[in-house]
Amino acid sequence: YEAIAAARQHKPDIILLDVMMPGVDGFETCKLIKQDPEISHIPVVMVTALSDQSDRVRGLEVGADDFLTKPINDMALFARVRSLVRIKVLLDELRLRDQTLLQMGIAAEAGKSFVSDVNGARVLLVDDDPVQAKQITAKLGETYQVDWLQEADVEPAVKKATAMPYDVIMVSALLMDEDGLRLASLMKSHEEIRHVPILMLVDEDDTATMLKVLEMGFNDYLRVPVDKNEMTARVRTQIRRKRYQEALRATYQQSISLAITDALTGLYNRHYLNTHLENMTRQSLEGKKPLTVMMMDMDHFKSVNDQHGHDAGDMVLKRLAEIILQSSRSADLVARYGGEEFVVLMPETGLPEAGDAAERLRKTVESTPFNVEGACIFSTISIGISTLKFGGGLMKQDECGTDLLKRADGALYEAKNGGRNQVKIAD
Ligand code: GH3
Ligand code: MG
Ligand code: MG
Repeated sequence: YEAIAAARQHKPDIILLDVMMPGVDGFETCKLIKQDPEISHIPVVMVTALSDQSDRVRGLEVGADDFLTKPINDMALFARVRSLVRIKVLLDELRLRDQTLLQMGIAAEAGKSFVSDVNGARVLLVDDDPVQAKQITAKLGETYQVDWLQEADVEPAVKKATAMPYDVIMVSALLMDEDGLRLASLMKSHEEIRHVPILMLVDEDDTATMLKVLEMGFNDYLRVPVDKNEMTARVRTQIRRKRYQEALRATYQQSISLAITDALTGLYNRHYLNTHLENMTRQSLEGKKPLTVMMMDMDHFKSVNDQHGHDAGDMVLKRLAEIILQSSRSADLVARYGGEEFVVLMPETGLPEAGDAAERLRKTVESTPFNVEGACIFSTISIGISTLKFGGGLMKQDECGTDLLKRADGALYEAKNGGRNQVKIAD
């Protein structure tokens, strides 16, 4: 229970849980964590002394996200942790947005706890080995609707995967004529499939591929020949995670109304940005994690209006919003701050990284022709960047969101004074 209290207090990014503990055992602890709505979203990795299959299955049944066996192999540990933390960054962001909506009095319901309903889930299996595919289909078919695709080429695979809203896609890494990892990553690059978890089937001795699966950002792997119970449990974990993410997204999308978005560009408006910025700042300060803000303004935008008309100006703004969205990551928050001013909040991003992103964006805008009403307009943007300052050192107090924004605005002003079409970083 101490572990649970500590998890509630510190909200770690990941929990490593030893199965063999005095007092309450690891399985029980994991179960309690996964039932607690405040911490159920934190990934749990169980550490077992033996590579005991029944331990694994029991762990997955109580909601563990992964396993490591003692003695712990560092490579495996880091790969697992990286992959789980990546998912968590996204879930955290979604939960935080939920909370912001609540504060703004928009959402009706608080974030739901981890979804346990896996009914009616659809699984797609891409595997050219008929014997293995039949075994997998038979077992998973007891609980889910399973489609099997034997033709493991990119085109049919993408076609099949986009034809139906699948909850999990399983891809064999042991295909005869195709690199399974390549196939999976090409599938994942399609917008409709982007949020569908991918489970790779990997030969049980092929540790290198297992690590690669996680490094490439796939959700999990299953050792081949598959252990049926482990497969059931891992598939269920992926489905639950996907449904949880969907539930968060759904509450969120329902609530996105005119109150928080900007009608012209569809981006968040200033009011939403201000509320969310304070939440994001607090979270970053608590977790001692970087937070960077990018503020940009179109250069000489008045002349676009003057030369091509206000409607053409609107089209340019709309298109620019799309460009900014495309160049940002899923955890970033993009808002229209004013007329032709935009702000991007970048959680867990430090200065060098944000500076590169800003420079890339500046170049993209500079080289993108805006085609409006027969005219081809070229525009540029100036960008100011600031990163959150933490208390300590010479500073007595942590910075707040408003200060952060103010400094980005100051840097933007410098970029304008420096001749426009440039990126400036606040001191
Ligand atoms: P600079 O920022 O480089 O100093 O020059 P600027 O011409 O962009 O300067 P300023 O910020 O003063 O002008 C912004 C212009 O953007 C003024 C306004 O007419 C125009 N604008 C603001 N909102 C909208 C909008 O929603 N649609 C259109 N078409 N124009 C807008
Ligand atoms: Mg301007
Ligand atoms: Mg302006």
